[in-house]
Parts: sequence; C-alpha cells; structure tokens
Amino acid sequence: MIEQELKQALAERARQSLYRNRKVMASAQGSDVSLSSQAHDGEFINFASNDYLGLANHPDVTKAFVDSANKFGVGSGASHLVIGHHQEHHLLEQELAEFTGRARALVFSNGYAANLSCLNVLLGQGDLVAEDKLNHASLLDGGLSSGAKFRRYIHNDITSLDKTLSLPGNRKIVVTDGVFSMDGDCAPLADIITTAKNHDAWLMVDDAHGFGVLGKTGAGLCEQLQLSEQQVPILVGTFGKAFGTYGAFVAGSETLIETLIQFARPYIYSTALPPAIAAATRQSLKIIQHGAELREKLQSLIQLFRTRVSALEFDLMESNTAIQPLVIGDEQSMLNIAEFLKANGILVGAIRPPTVPKGTARLRITLTAAHTPEQVEKLTDLLAQACDQFCSQANESLTE
Ligand SMILES: *Cc1c(COP(=O)(O)O)cnc(C)c1O
Repeated sequence: MIEQELKQALAERARQSLYRNRKVMASAQGSDVSLSSQAHDGEFINFASNDYLGLANHPDVTKAFVDSANKFGVGSGASHLVIGHHQEHHLLEQELAEFTGRARALVFSNGYAANLSCLNVLLGQGDLVAEDKLNHASLLDGGLSSGAKFRRYIHNDITSLDKTLSLPGNRKIVVTDGVFSMDGDCAPLADIITTAKNHDAWLMVDDAHGFGVLGKTGAGLCEQLQLSEQQVPILVGTFGKAFGTYGAFVAGSETLIETLIQFARPYIYSTALPPAIAAATRQSLKIIQHGAELREKLQSLIQLFRTRVSALEFDLMESNTAIQPLVIGDEQSMLNIAEFLKANGILVGAIRPPTVPKGTARLRITLTAAHTPEQVEKLTDLLAQACDQFCSQANESLTE
C-alpha cells in the first residue's frame, strides 16, 4: 500500500518534468570535470558548482587535509560536548571570529544544522520570525520548526518586511540570505537593519554565497557593507561553497555562542566534523584572506558573461555575483536547453520547483575563478545557439 503510493508520487513527479537524476562525478570538483554514469558519460566544462574560488581541489587545501589526517586520523569520534571537539575546530573558530569581526564563532557540521540550530534555540511559541520569501530551504525549515509565528515577506521588499514585523510577537527575528542562492542578488541589509531596529527585532544573515567572495578580504556581504555584530547579531557562513571544504559556522556575541553550545540540539547530538576538514578549512581561510586576485578574476569573468549574454534574448537577473541564473520559465524548455548545452560539453544547474517558485525554472550558471575567459565565451556562444533553437518555444509555452 505504501509502496504503491510512493510509486504513484514518483510517476507524478516525472510527469511534471520534476524528476531528478543524480550525475556521478568521476573527477575532482573544478572547472573541468568528468562524469561516469550511463546517461552522462564524458568530460564537461562545469558551470554548476558552488566552488566559486576553485578551492575544492586546491593543492594547499588538499595538503592541509592530508597532513592533518595523517596526524589526527579521520573520525572525530564523538560530539563536541563529549570528546570530539578538537584543537583544529577550536583554532578555526578563533580565526573565524577575528575574520568576521565578531566576538566568537561556532563551527557546525553543515549549514543546514547551523540554521536549524539558531532558529530553534532563539525562537519559540509567542515569537515571530520574518523570512524573505526566497530564503534557503534550511532557513525556512528552521523557522517553521521553531514554534514561532512564521511569516514570509516579499523578496527584498522593505515595505513588506515592515508590515510583517508589525505583527505581535515577544521576540522578533528577521532572517535573510545575504546573497540569494538561486537568484544571485543581495539582500538590502542597510534598510533591513533600520527596519528591524524600528521593531526591536534581531537580524540573522545567512551569507553562504557571499562568504569568501564578497568584501575586501572575503569576509562576505557584511564586510562589504561594513556591518557590525550589533547590526547583524547572527551571522552564518558555510564552507561548502567558496571555501571548497565542508561545514559551517555561526558568528556573534559571547552570549549567542554559549547559548548555542548549551541548547542547540543539532550541535549537541551530532558527531563533530572530522578535524582534518577543519584543518583544510583553516588553509582555505588563509588563501581567501589573501585572495584579492582570485576575487578580481571571478569578477572579470562575471562581467564578461553578462556583457555577452546581454546581447542575447535571455533576461539577465540583477546579479553581480558568481550566480548568474537565466530564467526560462517552463520546466521542459529549460531542460531542453540544459540538455543541448550538455550535448555540447557544458554543465549548468537545471533548477526547477520546488527549489524555485513555479513558472521560474532556470539555468543556474555559476562562474568560478578557475574558469578561463575562453570557457565563458564557449558557454555564451552555445547559449546564443540555444536561444535560436529553443527560446521561441519557451515563450510559446509561457503564454499557453
Ligand atoms: C548551501 C546553503 C546552506 C546549507 O549549507 P550546507 O553546509 O551545504 O548544509 C545554507 N544556506 C544557504 C543560503 C546555502 O546556500
């Protein structure tokens, strides 16, 4: 009976062009990858990863990982509060606090756990959480499971946020992505801060896609806008994107961090990250702090991409970040273009609902410092061809 229902749900997914198939990587992450699975064999230029600075396979980061694993083994062996909290985690936390200009930082196993932890610890019944409509799923899940009144405001809309915050609540927290993961635009943090202050609300910023990439030293959107701990009391960053490793952190006041250590269930009841991952992340941090050149290279590729695509029929989004989505609308047309690119040796993210709102299926193209200008030009040339072949078709299905 359950089996039958599951089969029906899967068939329905396929019917809606929403069925996902995993690609199987047979190389390191990078600008050039190879896949090994029946449907997707071969070598590709990769415009689908979040490895924005090309650090996932950087020799210095790999070496830090291997050296640490040789010294400390692989498993952390326990949760942080038992006996799994290693010196490598501890040093990484101190370096992150300094890097972000916060009193303290706390390392988590991943961003999902960090976000769930913050929202569940800080919010409960009688409280109010205001979230941007396009926030990452982990922020939405954290808000929903917190027990607080959960409201989403219109994307980056200060009037809508102000209205939301006028609802009653004991504690009020505003939650937003720094750089939006599927759109690539940034939250208007200065205005959000003013509005939050007017309602005596705290602000939580998840800068998963800005951390490492934005700001003079790569400390993210808060560094770029020069926002202090008082202005952004809860700052989240992840290591799985520009840092090229794995894990996440929360930075904030001494009180916030101690509260999380004492009360955050995903933190307390989960095995600590392998120390070697923390060691590798410390090495990434060093590269990022001196990575102005990598960030400049990424910026010039972003500009190249945007200049060339602006001559095509696609609509660019308001994004100056490495995330450059092209919204196609209808799922099947988007998949057709993604397939066309793949047949020509290029991988892009094919993003469909429920990851993005219905009717906004998109190619999520991500640029990295590891790409060459020639690779970006090959991509835009193929997009021009795809436009000729598929764009009118997409427009027709949009008006149906
Ligand atoms: C990727 C991402 C996360 C989740 O981080 P993981 O470490 O991959 O679990 C959280 N928030 C945002 C905005 C993200 O893009």
